[in-house]
Amino acid sequence: MPYGQGTRLPGEAASKLGHLAVIESPWVKSLVEDFESAPAVDGDPSKTVWQTFDPKEVVPLRGVWAVDGSFVPVRSEQKPPREVAFVKTALLMLDKAKLDVIDKDLPHPLLLRDALKDTGVQHATVFPLKNVRTSMGTNYDAVRNIVRDSMRVDQGGAYHDTMKWLAYRKWEPDSTARSPAFQCPHCRKDVDSGLDHDAETGLCPHCGGEVFLSDLWGFHMEMGEDSAPESLASSYMLIMEHLMLFTAVRLMWHHSDRSLVADTLFIKDGPLTLRSQYSKMVPNIRDFLQYAKVTGRPVHIIGQEKSGTFFDHLASIVRFAAPHNRGEPLTYAPLMHSYVHREVYRSPDVSNPYGLKTNWGEKMYVKVDPGAFMVLNVPTGNYKADSDWPTAGDLIGLSRILATLPSLVSHKFEGALYPVELANGIASMSSYPSATILQRFLEGQASR
Ligand SMILES: [Zn+2]
Repeated sequence: MPYGQGTRLPGEAASKLGHLAVIESPWVKSLVEDFESAPAVDGDPSKTVWQTFDPKEVVPLRGVWAVDGSFVPVRSEQKPPREVAFVKTALLMLDKAKLDVIDKDLPHPLLLRDALKDTGVQHATVFPLKNVRTSMGTNYDAVRNIVRDSMRVDQGGAYHDTMKWLAYRKWEPDSTARSPAFQCPHCRKDVDSGLDHDAETGLCPHCGGEVFLSDLWGFHMEMGEDSAPESLASSYMLIMEHLMLFTAVRLMWHHSDRSLVADTLFIKDGPLTLRSQYSKMVPNIRDFLQYAKVTGRPVHIIGQEKSGTFFDHLASIVRFAAPHNRGEPLTYAPLMHSYVHREVYRSPDVSNPYGLKTNWGEKMYVKVDPGAFMVLNVPTGNYKADSDWPTAGDLIGLSRILATLPSLVSHKFEGALYPVELANGIASMSSYPSATILQRFLEGQASR
């Protein structure tokens, strides 16, 4: 997803409310006055605890991988309109040594091309959303099969292998683990015992129907018999971003150079979160990262949130934090669960621990220089529900991550990371065929 317009860029300053008749009401008048005159605040109302980072004696990470995705729904002109969604994801490898010589503000196109040469892989697929029928079966079955086939088709099946690696805990030597439990797409009962170790398909113990390992994600739970919502495309994008990122992790984990995986920064666009039915893989992801940590091969991953609740909160308080001038040291603030509830969501009384089922990374604010701040997610391995958790020591590889960040900051957008920007360029809408061509494609399908 693209970076948003920053707050330091010129915005619309003129009053949009002054001409309203209702302004005569003293209540409305007072509201408008408060609204238009930013109240003076002396200090950070959230009392965020920022820590100063000292990069001395910390070795930055050598390689950088970034993953990003996008999707675009397309409707045909016919009645009733046919609708499909195209999804695209990209994984990009950057050699930091090559990246370091590139001017971050005015990148030289040839140097950039060199840094990117042969290092990006992309993946794309298309889903039927409405009024599209295949001769193979219902829309419901079409989507299940497209999910499975799409995961299997690229890179010699590497992404599908990564799903198996995560589901069957193949980082453990001699693992015999079964897959996590999931809902049968035919009878909607839970397949509690999961699938046999390493299986790609199995039979539902309740109805005998054939289930795929890729049904584990639960895409079918978002769908009706004959149509699928647009959210299906965003969910698939999210899952593919995870599979692509962990494919890079997996290949390095099993690489003969055993130091490689711990010497690399993996960046995902967006939070390290899998919500609702997609969260079934979260315990395995946490277990792997914990395993990697305790065996001395920590995996450095960050997720960057470029919009949303955390980003808005950080934007409202970041001016109170150092560094106030360029050249001053970077500061960071790991966010404890109590802080997230109290200051970010402003709902201190919630009963569920923050991120219990869904998050495989914890939140952290970083301010690199006066114009560059970001919301990052960093894994911890094991999760703790405590309200005063996590602290800096719980975030895997924090020092090396922080030592690497400054060289990755781009000044094209506020708080943008160069590798994410580049991955976004590959995965973005602009590299889709134009909407007209996609529509014609849809209409061409109709006449067959
Ligand atoms: Zn069943």
